[in-house]
Amino acid sequence: MRVIIVGNGVAGTTAARLIAERDQGVEVVLCSDEPYLYYPRPRLIDLVGCQVSPEQMPQFPPEWYAQRGITLRLNCRVEAVYPEARRVLFQNGEEMTYDRLMLATGARAWVPPISGADLPGVYTLRTLADGLALCQAAHQAKHAVVLGGGLLGLDASSALLAHGLEITVVEVMPRLLPRQLDAEGAAVLQARLEARGLRFVIGEGCVAIEGDGRVRQIVLQSGRVLPAEMVVISAGVRANTALAQAAGLACGRGVVVDDRMQTSAPDIYAAGDVAEFRGVMWGIIPAALAQARVAAAQIVGESEVRYEEIVPSTTLKVSGIDLTSIGEVNPERPGFEEVCFSQDGVYKKAVLREGRIVGAIILGDRAEVRAINQLIAKGVDVSPYAEDLFRPGFDLMALAQGSAVLRPRV
Ligand SMILES: Cc1cc2nc3c(=O)[nH]c(=O)nc-3n(C[C@H](O)[C@H](O)[C@H](O)COP(=O)(O)OP(=O)(O)OC[C@H]3O[C@@H](n4cnc5c(N)ncnc54)[C@H](O)[C@@H]3O)c2cc1C
Repeated sequence: MRVIIVGNGVAGTTAARLIAERDQGVEVVLCSDEPYLYYPRPRLIDLVGCQVSPEQMPQFPPEWYAQRGITLRLNCRVEAVYPEARRVLFQNGEEMTYDRLMLATGARAWVPPISGADLPGVYTLRTLADGLALCQAAHQAKHAVVLGGGLLGLDASSALLAHGLEITVVEVMPRLLPRQLDAEGAAVLQARLEARGLRFVIGEGCVAIEGDGRVRQIVLQSGRVLPAEMVVISAGVRANTALAQAAGLACGRGVVVDDRMQTSAPDIYAAGDVAEFRGVMWGIIPAALAQARVAAAQIVGESEVRYEEIVPSTTLKVSGIDLTSIGEVNPERPGFEEVCFSQDGVYKKAVLREGRIVGAIILGDRAEVRAINQLIAKGVDVSPYAEDLFRPGFDLMALAQGSAVLRPRV
């Protein structure tokens, strides 16, 4: 049996590994249009901050693939898929048949239609090539503007600080990280990032990027102008669905899959940032990993393995500022209870539903993240301790592990 996997990001590479490990009779062909061995995209932040070199980026050496019998094709774009003939067409004109196909084509950075967004000096950050370009540009610039105060925008801005630039983050929403934080948490985070040297324009968008042959400044909605020799656009991603769409597969914002990661075409699976399950696309590694595991299991015939929706968890990678946001943090429907703690740049919030934690923000205190994750995963009824959850001295881990829990003295 031959399995072709399109895309060597975390979803494609994980599935290739699992298939090769489980069934050595399968020929696994893993191809990517990027020229690089698999690298975890979060490490791009370290690359931008000059903490790692491009050579240090790959997760596994070339032998890793050979030892598992995985045929790796880099710089090898798949141009077309023909489901009825079970064939793919590579960029070099070569064709190859498959028994099973997995689409792990991920996503690309989205650039909103702002005038001047195509000027030299405007960047996005998704690939290793982008990371290198950003790094080089940062050596030569004095002012940078980052459009987008989401996780990636903040991570990238903080990494750019290492180059000694003056950096302004422009966020059109009324606060930072609107999906991961509430208003109070966002204010605490903003103050901490300002203390590190970042500047912010919040609640106002950029209407134009200007320059004479190269970016020089950006114009805000109010007409205010900010100097910028480089602009980083961090406005979200769009799934790479073109291949699937052209092949006639059902697509919404992503390639539509069921709980087996099966697309609308027989023997074609999809996982990771490109896949849309019940209308949801998380665009994060835990979802890509969970989906890749299911797709791999299905491909080797373990038909009982199904995908269950994950509780999303995201972390900010700014060193010294530990922020984790898990699950539902801004419930807009009735029936939720919130427990908050705020002191000296530390902000914690747990969102409870029927006594169980369904979401949490932990800003500035990483120690409790594991316990909270366990409490959510196990569905522990924390209602007898709701008021104590974030009191200094309260042992969240004991609660998660079902050990005797001592109430702190108030
Ligand atoms: C800087 C950065 C930091 C991040 N940090 C975090 C984090 O801390 N936590 C987290 O959970 N998530 C993070 N993410 C998001 C995370 O990286 C993605 O969710 C993850 O990479 C998705 O993996 P994937 O395998 O689905 O797709 P991708 O990683 O996008 O890989 C898809 C691959 O397929 C290739 N491809 C596309 N079309 C074709 C084709 N036709 N032929 C051949 N190859 C093709 C692409 O070029 C790409 O190499 C971060 C992303 C970035 C950019």
